[in-house]
Amino acid sequence: MVPQWLIERKRDGGELAESDIRELIAAYTDGSLPDYQMAAFAMAVYFQGMTDAETATLTDAMMRSGDVLDMSDMPCPTADKHSTGGIGDKISLILGPLAACAGLDVPMISGRGLGITGGTLDKLESIAGYNARLDAGAFRRVVAEVGCSIIGQTARLAPADRKLYALRDVTATVPSIPLITASIMAKKLAEGAETLVFDVKCGRGAFMRTRQDAGTLARSLLRVGRLLGRKVAALVTDMDRPLGATIGNALEVVESIEVLHGGGPADIRALTIDLVAAMLATSGLRADTPALRADLAAFLDNGAAAAKFAEMIAAQGGDAACVDDPGRLPVAERVLELPAPRGGYVADVDAGKLGRAALLLGAGRRATTDAIDPAAGLSHVLRAGDVVEAGAPLLRLHASNAVDPAEATALAAEAFVFSDEPPETRPLVLETIL
Ligand code: URA
Repeated sequence: MVPQWLIERKRDGGELAESDIRELIAAYTDGSLPDYQMAAFAMAVYFQGMTDAETATLTDAMMRSGDVLDMSDMPCPTADKHSTGGIGDKISLILGPLAACAGLDVPMISGRGLGITGGTLDKLESIAGYNARLDAGAFRRVVAEVGCSIIGQTARLAPADRKLYALRDVTATVPSIPLITASIMAKKLAEGAETLVFDVKCGRGAFMRTRQDAGTLARSLLRVGRLLGRKVAALVTDMDRPLGATIGNALEVVESIEVLHGGGPADIRALTIDLVAAMLATSGLRADTPALRADLAAFLDNGAAAAKFAEMIAAQGGDAACVDDPGRLPVAERVLELPAPRGGYVADVDAGKLGRAALLLGAGRRATTDAIDPAAGLSHVLRAGDVVEAGAPLLRLHASNAVDPAEATALAAEAFVFSDEPPETRPLVLETIL
């Protein structure tokens, strides 16, 4: 391979051979292809795009740059969900146990928060003792015995993506559908689940701002997933407003536990049931019928899903008692209320602004090396359609005494819009692509 000839072909809109793409990724992973040539290649892809066959080869090559788990011997059909990330998105914590109750095995490898969007791994690590660094053998054992396990990405998971993502981040080549598709899919496919359901989010609190872009990404993920032999489905969901009433790691675990016990916010419960139903239907295990949805609701209402979550936490060395006693989770030194400047209906709540406010309180990272404060964030967030009196709280801010909450408070206040009339209700699930 002569890299500059390959870059030239892509620059001029040509299609690359499978062997070219595989050699390029192998050379980039072992360090023999320098960053400047990979950056030029990424920019050529940014402008010229890739065919589905090229994207599938890129995905497969990046997946095989590291460890690939074989989950084919699990006792139940394997399935997982991937969310492109949002504000208050704690669905995975509920979905894993719920899907396991319904007869799936869920091997979930999740990431840390990215930008203002939270990460499942950060949330789980607010549970004392929770070990998200299981080796492949222990991970497989927990999935087989409990039905679900959630661990963190290791350096051996798609290392080509780790390198390429960091390079794209500093060369203005992140927003490319084939590159995003390959990046997401390479990591998800490596965990070995035969069925994958994607929750592609759009709006002010999401990576994809418009519904159209989210739909384009969802379809690209599905075409490539099918080319690589997986069963796939996608939901395009609204992330203009936050999910649930909490943003922040331990706060979101508490809210997830409420949903696992049959309570909690209706949007979280409904979206989790939608996604688990899509996983079951796509895997071929059960059709998405009212009877299936009633069964899923019952697993939440009768304590089975909460018990499954406790079982998973215990299997990974964590304090499972928090499932019945969420008071054991970290709490902030200081809790402040944000008063409503006027009375009326809450007409709009900007997920992006609340995500930034939570980050400023310590729930997210300003730099990748920062530590997060597991107790920091926002709770009791009012939602569009709620009625509020002047001076009543719009939300609570949780922070340590070391943090000055002024900037976060101002940002959170800007997130709310009020009206005298009730706002139009908007669907959470914008599109389902099976
Ligand atoms: N998330 C990823 O994992 N990769 C991308 O390229 C974008 C979002």
